[in-house]
Amino acid sequence: MAQPAQRPVFAPWNDPNEKPLIQFQNVTKKFGEFVAVDGITIDIFRREFFALLGPSGCGKTTLMRMLAGFEKPTEGQILLDGVDLAPIPPNKRETNMMFQSYALFPHLTVWDNIAFGLRRSEMPKDRIPARVEEMLRLTRLEKFARRKPHQISGGQRQRVALARSLAKAPKLLLLDEPLGALDKKLRQDTQFELMDIQEKTGTTFLIVTHDQEEAMTVASRVAVMDHGRMIQVDTPDRIYENPNSVYVADFIGDVNIVEGRATRKGDDKYAIAWAEGQPDIMATSNERIEQGTKVHFAIRPEKVAIATSRPTDRANVIEGKVSDIAYLGNISTYKVEVAGGRMIKAQVANERRLARRDITWDDKVFLSFTDTAGVILLR
Ligand code: ATP
Repeated sequence: MAQPAQRPVFAPWNDPNEKPLIQFQNVTKKFGEFVAVDGITIDIFRREFFALLGPSGCGKTTLMRMLAGFEKPTEGQILLDGVDLAPIPPNKRETNMMFQSYALFPHLTVWDNIAFGLRRSEMPKDRIPARVEEMLRLTRLEKFARRKPHQISGGQRQRVALARSLAKAPKLLLLDEPLGALDKKLRQDTQFELMDIQEKTGTTFLIVTHDQEEAMTVASRVAVMDHGRMIQVDTPDRIYENPNSVYVADFIGDVNIVEGRATRKGDDKYAIAWAEGQPDIMATSNERIEQGTKVHFAIRPEKVAIATSRPTDRANVIEGKVSDIAYLGNISTYKVEVAGGRMIKAQVANERRLARRDITWDDKVFLSFTDTAGVILLR
């Protein structure tokens, strides 16, 4: 019998023979005394879609501007294909930066906007039209070639900017909030287009975004940044399911965080004492945690079940009272008050119509989860 086709796993960062395209080696950037980027070391690989995620001011744009050559590192080195970028001016780097504002020329047609950079490059003049046509096809803009930027929609302008950035076939495309100007629906569609174009051209993309869902959707790896440092660099699923810190758990998605003290119960099992008179929370960890260590237990609301009768098959059951319900159409989030006034959120997919829902405000409920549903965090 034929084996089902397996999608090859793309994970060059796990392959010791793979050479990185970009290497940040202990890179620091100071503006006066202020440290905007703080000793970052990271390898980014060919064909990666690498996302920088973090709150405003954490150093994302500065990191990107150093790659593009608009800022110089105060310390450390940045290599592209093994070559130190320091002496190479921005216009000679095989990188291209697409800005949030797109910066299209309003008086030029879509066609000429895309051709603009090529005309100033070393590309022979007679090859330019074919390249422009190829970019128009790639971004599905053939029909709009003769229009000016004000005669097309925001999403189409975004695609022109992308076509123009990719025309010179850079090794690395830097995208600073590329979808920031688009509304939510268009933004989601464009994310998929962006991934498709990235895959077709095989270009390495480095994207800066505020939007965690966007980073999770498009990226091969996500770097979560804070105060000029990368707190965790991992695949989207690991960032979500295995955050390495309270900061990352809290930054990505919705999460319940409970503080307590851990006691080892054998192998990878731990009991976390978190409230007077309450049963300990049972959880697992691959790390060896010393007896009595103060820890945080983090669990996503969708991993917490809610019921009006006590479940018998779950390692953890916590009693509480419904204090609030947020109905979001596809899901409902129940805020449940438990021991000591703490709130724990449980999220339920709305499989049934609203009218038949059986849990409501002030109901006594039982929250439950397995011992592997959450993570124990040590920092
Ligand atoms: P945002 O998401 O708001 O764009 P960011 O993470 O991209 O933020 P950066 O633009 O990299 O942040 O800025 C990092 C820090 O460095 C900020 O505190 C910013 O004020 C500071 N900074 C950036 N450029 C300069 C500059 N030219 N002079 C002084 N400080 C600067």
